[in-house]
Amino acid sequence: MLYTSTRNGGVHVTASKAITDGISPDGGLYLPEEIPAFSADELRTLCSVGYRERAKHVLGKFLCDFTADEVNDCVENAYAGHKFASPEVAPVVKLDSTVSVLELFRGPTCAFKDMALQMLPHLLTVSAAKNLDHKEIVILVATSGDTGKAALEGFRDVPGTRILVFYPEDGVSAMQKLQMTTQEGGNVGVCAIRGNFDDAQNGVKAIFTNPEILEKFRANDLVFSSANSINWGRLAPQIVYYVSAYCDMVNAGTVPFGDAINIVVPTGNFGNILAAYFAREMGLPVKKLICASNANNVLTDFLATGTYDRNRHFYTTISPSMDILISSNLERLLYLLCGKDPATVRGWFASLAAEGRYTVSDDVRAKLGEIFVGGFCDDAATKQTIADTYRRFDYLPDTHTGVALRVLNEYLERTGDSTPAVVASTASPFKFPGAVLSALNGTTAADEFVAVEAIERLTGISAPPQLLSLRGKPVRFSGAADRDAMPQVVFDMLGI
Ligand SMILES: *Cc1c(COP(=O)(O)O)cnc(C)c1O
Repeated sequence: MLYTSTRNGGVHVTASKAITDGISPDGGLYLPEEIPAFSADELRTLCSVGYRERAKHVLGKFLCDFTADEVNDCVENAYAGHKFASPEVAPVVKLDSTVSVLELFRGPTCAFKDMALQMLPHLLTVSAAKNLDHKEIVILVATSGDTGKAALEGFRDVPGTRILVFYPEDGVSAMQKLQMTTQEGGNVGVCAIRGNFDDAQNGVKAIFTNPEILEKFRANDLVFSSANSINWGRLAPQIVYYVSAYCDMVNAGTVPFGDAINIVVPTGNFGNILAAYFAREMGLPVKKLICASNANNVLTDFLATGTYDRNRHFYTTISPSMDILISSNLERLLYLLCGKDPATVRGWFASLAAEGRYTVSDDVRAKLGEIFVGGFCDDAATKQTIADTYRRFDYLPDTHTGVALRVLNEYLERTGDSTPAVVASTASPFKFPGAVLSALNGTTAADEFVAVEAIERLTGISAPPQLLSLRGKPVRFSGAADRDAMPQVVFDMLGI
C-alpha cells in the first residue's frame, strides 16, 4: 500500500515518506491509496486485548514499510505505562445507556493531542532513518493551544529533532500558554504570533512551501516536517482509539458485538473526526459521526449547505482549540468523497484561497449527509451543559467536551436515536479551569490556579499533577512576532 496526495494523483510514496514530509510538495495532504479493512473476526480478537495490542494491529495496517518490530517499539514507547495516568490509556466511561465518554486526556499534557503526539516522534524517527541520511528534522507547529504543548512534550530532547511552536498571542488559555512558555528541553522553541490560529497555521504552511527557505534548509542539512494534524503520522494513531472504544463498549455490555455506535467529536481542524471516519471505513460498526462545533460554526454550515465559507466573524470562545475557520483535514475527506479526483480538490482549495469559500457537488453533499451530522453551540450553552452533566452524572467535562455533549443532547432530542453514542472527551476540565469553575457556580477566580483549587474543593476531583506543577515555573519563552516575521524566527532559533 502506498500513499498519494489529495492534489496530485502522480504521487505514490511509502508511509514513512508521507510521515517524513508531513505535507506533499504540491500542497496536498497524504492519504493511503486504499483504506485497509479489518474483518469481524479481527475486531472480535481486538476486544480481548489491551490498548497497546490494539494499536499495534491497527497501525500495522497503515505503516506498510515499517517492520513489525518497529511498529511494536513505536507503540510501546508512546503508550508506556508511566506516561498515561490510566492503565487503559484511553478509558471509556459510561454515563447512561446511550451516552459514553472516551477519555483521551490521560496523557502528559492533559489533552487528546497526546494520543498522537506521544507516538509521532517515534514514527518520525523511524521514518526519517528510512528516507533521509543524517539530516536534522525541524518540526514546525502552529497551535490553537493543545497541539503545541503536546508536540513540545513529545519531541523534547528527541535526538535528531528540533521543534518550534507558534501560537496565537491572545488565542490560547492562560494555562495553555503557561504550559508552552515554561517548556523544558534543549531542542525546543516557542513564539507567540500577533494574529489568530489561522494566521499561525498559514504562516507555517507558507514556510513549508517556500522554495528559497527550503533551499536554505537543505544547505544547512536540515529538513522540515510537521507535527500538525496534516501529518499522516498524527492521524493514524487517532484511528486506534475509536476501535478501542468500540471494543470497550462491547466488553462493558453497552453495545452488542456487531451493532453500530454513533461517535461525537468536538471538532476544530477536522483531524479527530476524520480518524473516526477512517475507523468506520475500515469496518468499525459506526452509524453517524456527529461533528460538534462552537460559535465558529463553519463546519455546521458546510454540512447543512455544501458551501464552506470562511468569510465570517472569528469568535474567541471558552473552547479555544476549536476556534478555527479553516479545517485543514476536511480536504482528505472531500478527496475521498469526490471519487479521489485531485483536480476537483485543487479547484475547491484554489477557490478557498482566492475567495474564502467553495461549494461541493450535490453528490458529495449527499454522501456527507449519509454519515455526518453537524451541530454547534455557544459558550453559554457549553457552560450550562458542563453544569448539567456534573449534576446528572457526577461527571465533569471540559469546555470542548461540553460542546460535544450539548450537540449530542440536541441530536438525541431531535431524532430519538437510541444508538449508543461515544463522545470523544478531548481535554481535562482542569486545563480550562476558569470557564469550568464559572460553569459550576458562576464565580470567577483571581487566576487559573485559584480556579483549579476551587474546582477541586467543589467536586472532590483532584487536578492532574502536571498542571499543578506549572505554578511558579520560570517562563523560558516570552517572545511575540508578526506573521510575516515567522521565517526569521525560525532562522534565529536554528542559528542559520
Ligand atoms: C485539538 C482539539 C480539538 C479539535 O480537534 P481537531 O482534530 O482539530 O478537530 C478539540 N478539543 C481539544 C481539547 C483539542 O485540543
